Amino acid sequence: MRLLEERIQRDGVVKAEGVLKVDSFLNHQMDISLFNEMGAELKRLFADAPINKILTIEASGIGIAAIVAQHFGVPVVFAKKAQSINLDGEMYTTRIQSFTHGKIFNVIVSKKYIGPEDHVLIIDDFLANGCALDGLIEIVESAGATVEGIGIAIEKGFQPGGKSLRERGYRLESLAIVDAMDPETGKLVFREQNDA
Ligand code: 5GP
Repeated sequence: MRLLEERIQRDGVVKAEGVLKVDSFLNHQMDISLFNEMGAELKRLFADAPINKILTIEASGIGIAAIVAQHFGVPVVFAKKAQSINLDGEMYTTRIQSFTHGKIFNVIVSKKYIGPEDHVLIIDDFLANGCALDGLIEIVESAGATVEGIGIAIEKGFQPGGKSLRERGYRLESLAIVDAMDPETGKLVFREQNDA
């Protein structure tokens, strides 16, 4: 998506260790008109899928997912990061290794909000190694629901998550794919895609 690529190019900051900071429009301050364009593009890309629910993970997925959901006219469920897992059977639970914080945390979703009748679009801000998405997929599949697709704002194509998910057959659409970035020069290389 050209608009997003241009914005990353203009306002993104390439950090060491493969981290891209986009705090000024996506991860801290949020540009809602950009999110709105991203929502319209994801709706176009998944127009044929019978999506009735969006799933994301707190915190930085929530803003994007909420705006995307308006384009689909469906509710958003966000997986919560929990201190401890209460094994009373009312929650789907999984453990996710955090790319940015380097630690493992527990994630929960109430069984009330996702079930076998659901056709889910998973949304997140970044795709790096794919651990966050693996956890969300595990929750959807353990609920007996269907993963219709995955919509990502920024995929880092030099990390293995995207390739692995596509090889496993998931329908993954990333609005911008960064194939290389250089913290010294700030130079970014985007993958060519057939998109808006
Ligand atoms: P993964 O689980 O795919 O390794 O990492 C995805 C999660 O880590 C995303 O939810 C995102 O919050 C965070 N993340 C991964 N890489 C980056 C990055 O380069 N910049 C920022 N801001 N967040 C990232």
